[in-house]
Formats: sequence, C-alpha cells, structure tokens
Amino acid sequence: MRCPFCGNIDTQVKDSRPAEDHVSIRRRRFCPACGGRFTTYERVQLRDLVVVKSNGKREDFDRDKLERSIRIAMQKRPIDPERIDQMISGIVRRLESMGETDIPSRTIGEIVMESLARIDTVAYVRFASVYKNFQAADDFDRFVSELRPASEKGDE
Ligand SMILES: [Zn+2]
Repeated sequence: MRCPFCGNIDTQVKDSRPAEDHVSIRRRRFCPACGGRFTTYERVQLRDLVVVKSNGKREDFDRDKLERSIRIAMQKRPIDPERIDQMISGIVRRLESMGETDIPSRTIGEIVMESLARIDTVAYVRFASVYKNFQAADDFDRFVSELRPASEKGDE
C-alpha cells in the first residue's frame, strides 16, 4: 500500500483487527521512509458491486442470482459441482478486480459466456441463446426463468 505522505510503496502493517462493524478489517500502517502512519480498511468488495442494466437501472450485484443462472445452464451436464463453484468464484473475482463498482450487465454476461465456453460447450450454447433475448429484455429474472428447463415452465 502506497504511503499517502511520501509515495513510498513499501509500507508496513503494524496492527490488523476487525472494525466495529465486522465487515471490514482495520489496518494500521507505518511508512519506514517518512515515518508516516495511516489506516486502511479492507472489506469484501462484493458488497459494493452494482449491476447497471442497459436501461440505466441499477441493482446490487447478487452472487446467488449469478450462480442460479449458471447452474441452470449447467443442469445435467457432467461437470463437477466443485468446478462450477470455482468458475463462479473466478467470475466474481474478475468482476471485483475490474476496479469499478458499476458493472454493465452486458459485461457480466460476456464474462459468464467466456467462462462457460471454456468448461462446457452445451452449457455455453444454452446460456448464450438465452442471453441474446436477455439483452433485448434486459431483465435478469426473466433471463433466469427462460433458462429453466421446459418441464419446469408450466407454472408461468
Ligand atoms: Zn511515507
């Protein structure tokens, strides 16, 4: 972490502890170059990600929703559930590491398709064919329901 006083990048952590809200870690840091002391907070960025739909509507990123859509696309495919978990975590990490809190829904869809394409062609095609409509409708809930297998669609 770069020192805010002198710009030295080699600062030291003196003390780490949970902040009062327990969703962040408070770190006291020390800069050996200038003797400056400062505090940083580390928190799960997932809490901050916002999905921006093409119509401009915003909603909090929901990992469960993402996971649901991927699991539906993966249904009955011979893929180890653990591998799917890893893929989902990888997608979330990619989103987090983009450095933006606002993420266009279209970007998420593209990253999901990329990841699926690497793991399972059938799941990729399922996801991609629905994603096309999704882009027009731009409604994640509808997207998920369209991914549902035909046998479960009766109650709509
Ligand atoms: Zn410094």
